[in-house]
Amino acid sequence: MFDTLQDRLSTVFKGLRSKGRLSEADIDATMREIRIALLEADVNLAVVKEFVAAVKTRALDAELSKALNPSQQIIKIVNEELISILGGEDRTIRFAKRPPTVIMLAGLQGAGKTTLAGKLAKWLKDSKHAPLLVAADLQRPNAVNQLQIVGERAGVHVFAPEPGNGIGDPVDVARRAIEHAEAKLYDVVIVDTAGRLGVDQELMQQAADIKAAVGPDETLFVVDAMIGQDAVNTAKAFDEGVGVDGVVLTKLDGDARGGAALSIARVLGKPIMFASNGEGLSDFDMFHPDRMASRILG
Ligand code: GDP
Repeated sequence: MFDTLQDRLSTVFKGLRSKGRLSEADIDATMREIRIALLEADVNLAVVKEFVAAVKTRALDAELSKALNPSQQIIKIVNEELISILGGEDRTIRFAKRPPTVIMLAGLQGAGKTTLAGKLAKWLKDSKHAPLLVAADLQRPNAVNQLQIVGERAGVHVFAPEPGNGIGDPVDVARRAIEHAEAKLYDVVIVDTAGRLGVDQELMQQAADIKAAVGPDETLFVVDAMIGQDAVNTAKAFDEGVGVDGVVLTKLDGDARGGAALSIARVLGKPIMFASNGEGLSDFDMFHPDRMASRILG
């Protein structure tokens, strides 16, 4: 996903290496090129401005100290600032002191919530937890069935409304699922909620109602990294409408420019916790800001 950005930045750094000392004009020119590379990769404008200003200030200061060779120094600063934009430290699930830990997934339809629910469940199961999946997406006729297939693949039980009882109320299903988890000693409950094609009031209200009913320890906003700047706007809408604790980026295996996804943590002030990069159950990992920065810098 970040190939073009990687190529652009590597060209910028190659140009730098050929210079011995760097003048302020060299630093300015470099920052201009980095700015263009980031904007072309679809990184949010405000994030680019902040990033470039931070790198430039530090580069000008560093130039005076001359501790390392100048190009190395700039690459180091760019790397550190990139890690900071991506959220700084790793952040994983905060487990509740008293189980079950409740994780609610929210996001638009097609973002990859159901797929992610399975991946997360398998990941938890592999690390000796006893997860329960909850089908609280009762909007799409096939969503419950899809979660059941995912649960079967992950070897994780799915709590779903009984068939034949009409559509059912997702808030009620979620509430009963928590009682079920408490009774059956599941220690993590993953609640898959409905999404729509776009942000709308009814969707937000339903997600907010489920959140109020189950009091999640983590509300994760799941977003398709391929949707560009809409990813940032949708993230803001969900944070305002529902309140999110962390972000999950999906479809990082796609060939979109990806810069918007890189902007979300900074714009929202919330960590990216997991990344999905394929349709398979194991195409999933914790998100590490430092590893992502290294990947982008090549
Ligand atoms: P939901 O509507 O948010 O529950 O989204 P789904 O989990 O149904 O996913 C929508 C589509 O995206 C499905 O075809 C998934 O197989 C696909 N998908 C989900 N995550 C990924 C991913 O990380 N990479 C790729 N390439 N496809 C994904």
